[in-house]
Amino acid sequence: MADEVFRHDGYMSEFEAGIVSVDGEEVALDCTAFYPGGGGQVCDTGTMNGLPVTEVYYKGREIVHRVPGNDFRPGMRVWCSLDWDRRFDLMMGHTGEHLLFSSLKRQDPELAITKIFIGPEDKYVILNRDVGWDTIGAALETANRAIRDNLPVRKTVMSRDDPDLEKVRIKLDRIAEGEEITVVSIGDIDLSACSGVHVMETGELETIFVDRKVSAGKDGVAVHFKVGKAAQDSAMALANLCLRIIDETGSKPEDVVKTVSNMRHDLALAAESRRTATRQRVREMVPEDFGGIRVYRGLFADADRKTLTEAAETFKSSGGVAAFVSVSDTVSVILASGDPKVDCRKILSAVLGAFGGRGGGKPDFAQGGASDPAKGEGIYGALLAEIGKL
Ligand SMILES: [Zn+2]
Repeated sequence: MADEVFRHDGYMSEFEAGIVSVDGEEVALDCTAFYPGGGGQVCDTGTMNGLPVTEVYYKGREIVHRVPGNDFRPGMRVWCSLDWDRRFDLMMGHTGEHLLFSSLKRQDPELAITKIFIGPEDKYVILNRDVGWDTIGAALETANRAIRDNLPVRKTVMSRDDPDLEKVRIKLDRIAEGEEITVVSIGDIDLSACSGVHVMETGELETIFVDRKVSAGKDGVAVHFKVGKAAQDSAMALANLCLRIIDETGSKPEDVVKTVSNMRHDLALAAESRRTATRQRVREMVPEDFGGIRVYRGLFADADRKTLTEAAETFKSSGGVAAFVSVSDTVSVILASGDPKVDCRKILSAVLGAFGGRGGGKPDFAQGGASDPAKGEGIYGALLAEIGKL
């Protein structure tokens, strides 16, 4: 078995090794600093004698390096070089994950990790349940304090019957009987069983920041984070966005959450009253006779669209025609017909075309609109005139 250098030295980025075996693109070495991936962290990449190493993984108990186009033979010596920027970012990410999760768990002891992913583009932990932004904020304070304190990150090996194992975050069912347990400590704030690669001091992380939280379905909630310069850039960009929102709402920073929550409440009330008003008008509608065609018509100010669509469908199925125009910031038009003489698509595209608008649909149901609300009345009149010509 190869000497797995990354297990005792996470900082070796260049090394010479002997080729043990070659099977097409798959190359095995007598020693390697390439991390084959594991514990949610993706594998390293780099070069071997200048050729790209595109993937590194375990095949049985052997680490193999995928080197397309190689002409290596067993016994050869090769010069290997890791993509160090990528690897260091992954080491920071993995250490950051330990720090972030232990800080979150301090806030909420019931939290558990469902899944971890540490890649160059994306880093996240999936938690068994949702956490509030206030909890995340408090956890980030703890984690960033640990970074400023530059705590040592150490690896020790424990046996299964070590009494200290109860202080360690570990999933014993995932560790085979007899297998030694590698435990990573961060100062005296966290002990976690992990065989991944980590930095040696928390200060190397510079900053950790959570920039996104999304549902992960039945697995829980994915908390996305960044470390190092990427964390600082992301924090500044989001802070600037928040300042713009604060400005837009005209509130003070400390009041903005309450302000937005009030706005959402007001919007919901306005939407409800719009629905009620639209429903009322539609209910009171009586058809007019346009040369034998039964037409339900209405020019609305900011109607509820869903209610209009439902009403149009109802009038259509009764054999009538619905011609609705609603004017708000824009003009929206619904034309539905249960009368074979009225081709909604044809009429709508002719009328909207004349007013610089657009629409489409089927002969029995078409909808569209125009961007200029001043054209609402004109469109409504033209629509009725077209139906009247039939
Ligand atoms: Zn780890």
